Amino acid sequence: MDNLALACIHCSLRKGARQNARDPQSGRTVRLFHPREHSWNHHFRWMTCRLNGITAIGRTTIEALNLNSSEHQVIRAFEKKLRRHPPPGHL
Ligand SMILES: [Zn+2]
Repeated sequence: MDNLALACIHCSLRKGARQNARDPQSGRTVRLFHPREHSWNHHFRWMTCRLNGITAIGRTTIEALNLNSSEHQVIRAFEKKLRRHPPPGHL
Protein backbone atom coordinates (compact mmCIF):
# COMPACT_ATOMS: atom_id res chain seq x y z
CA MET A 1 0.00 0.00 0.00
CA ASP A 2 2.92 2.37 0.67
CA ASN A 3 3.84 2.34 -3.02
CA LEU A 4 0.36 2.96 -4.45
CA ALA A 5 -1.08 6.26 -5.66
CA LEU A 6 -4.58 6.92 -6.94
CA ALA A 7 -4.54 7.72 -10.65
CA CYS A 8 -7.01 7.69 -13.50
CA ILE A 9 -6.71 4.82 -15.99
CA HIS A 10 -5.34 7.20 -18.66
CA CYS A 11 -2.39 8.29 -16.50
CA SER A 12 -1.81 4.85 -15.04
CA LEU A 13 -1.54 3.25 -18.49
CA ARG A 14 0.71 6.02 -19.82
CA LYS A 15 3.07 5.77 -16.87
CA GLY A 16 3.19 1.97 -16.68
CA ALA A 17 6.36 0.87 -14.85
CA ARG A 18 8.42 3.82 -16.11
CA GLN A 19 10.28 5.91 -13.58
CA ASN A 20 12.11 8.12 -16.12
CA ALA A 21 11.36 9.80 -19.43
CA ARG A 22 12.89 12.32 -21.82
CA ASP A 23 12.69 15.99 -20.85
CA PRO A 24 11.02 17.72 -23.82
CA GLN A 25 13.19 20.82 -23.27
CA SER A 26 16.68 19.40 -22.71
CA GLY A 27 16.31 15.94 -24.25
CA ARG A 28 17.92 14.43 -21.16
CA THR A 29 16.49 11.46 -19.29
CA VAL A 30 14.75 12.73 -16.16
CA ARG A 31 12.97 11.09 -13.28
CA LEU A 32 9.17 11.25 -13.37
CA PHE A 33 7.36 12.98 -10.53
CA HIS A 34 7.05 10.68 -7.52
CA PRO A 35 4.10 11.69 -5.30
CA ARG A 36 5.73 10.22 -2.17
CA GLU A 37 9.18 11.76 -2.67
CA HIS A 38 8.61 15.01 -4.55
CA SER A 39 6.69 18.17 -3.69
CA TRP A 40 3.90 18.99 -6.15
CA ASN A 41 4.27 22.74 -5.64
CA HIS A 42 8.00 22.58 -6.31
CA HIS A 43 7.46 21.05 -9.78
CA PHE A 44 4.06 22.26 -11.05
CA ARG A 45 1.82 25.32 -11.32
CA TRP A 46 -1.76 25.46 -12.54
CA MET A 47 -2.52 27.88 -15.35
CA THR A 48 -6.28 27.61 -14.93
CA CYS A 49 -7.01 24.17 -16.44
CA ARG A 50 -3.56 23.68 -17.92
CA LEU A 51 -0.67 22.29 -15.89
CA ASN A 52 2.71 24.00 -16.22
CA GLY A 53 5.94 22.16 -15.38
CA ILE A 54 8.37 24.53 -13.66
CA THR A 55 11.22 22.00 -13.33
CA ALA A 56 12.60 19.25 -15.56
CA ILE A 57 10.68 16.70 -13.49
CA GLY A 58 7.46 18.69 -13.91
CA ARG A 59 7.87 19.19 -17.67
CA THR A 60 8.85 15.59 -18.25
CA THR A 61 5.95 14.18 -16.23
CA ILE A 62 3.42 16.37 -18.02
CA GLU A 63 4.76 15.28 -21.41
CA ALA A 64 5.16 11.58 -20.55
CA LEU A 65 1.67 11.27 -19.06
CA ASN A 66 0.07 13.72 -21.52
CA LEU A 67 -1.37 15.60 -18.56
CA ASN A 68 -2.57 18.51 -20.69
CA SER A 69 -4.63 16.41 -23.09
CA SER A 70 -7.91 17.96 -24.19
CA GLU A 71 -9.73 15.32 -22.12
CA HIS A 72 -7.85 16.31 -18.97
CA GLN A 73 -8.57 19.98 -19.57
CA VAL A 74 -12.29 19.37 -20.13
CA ILE A 75 -12.49 17.41 -16.88
CA ARG A 76 -10.61 20.17 -15.01
CA ALA A 77 -12.95 22.85 -16.41
CA PHE A 78 -15.94 20.84 -15.17
CA GLU A 79 -14.30 20.32 -11.78
CA LYS A 80 -13.56 24.06 -11.62
CA LYS A 81 -17.28 24.83 -11.98
CA LEU A 82 -17.84 22.56 -8.97
CA ARG A 83 -15.01 24.37 -7.12
CA ARG A 84 -12.99 21.15 -7.01
CA HIS A 85 -10.16 22.42 -9.23
CA PRO A 86 -7.40 23.13 -8.51
CA PRO A 87 -7.07 20.50 -5.80
CA PRO A 88 -6.54 21.85 -2.26
CA GLY A 89 -2.92 22.72 -1.56
CA HIS A 90 -1.88 22.64 -5.25
CA LEU A 91 -0.73 26.07 -6.43
ZN1 LIG B 1 -5.17 11.33 -15.27
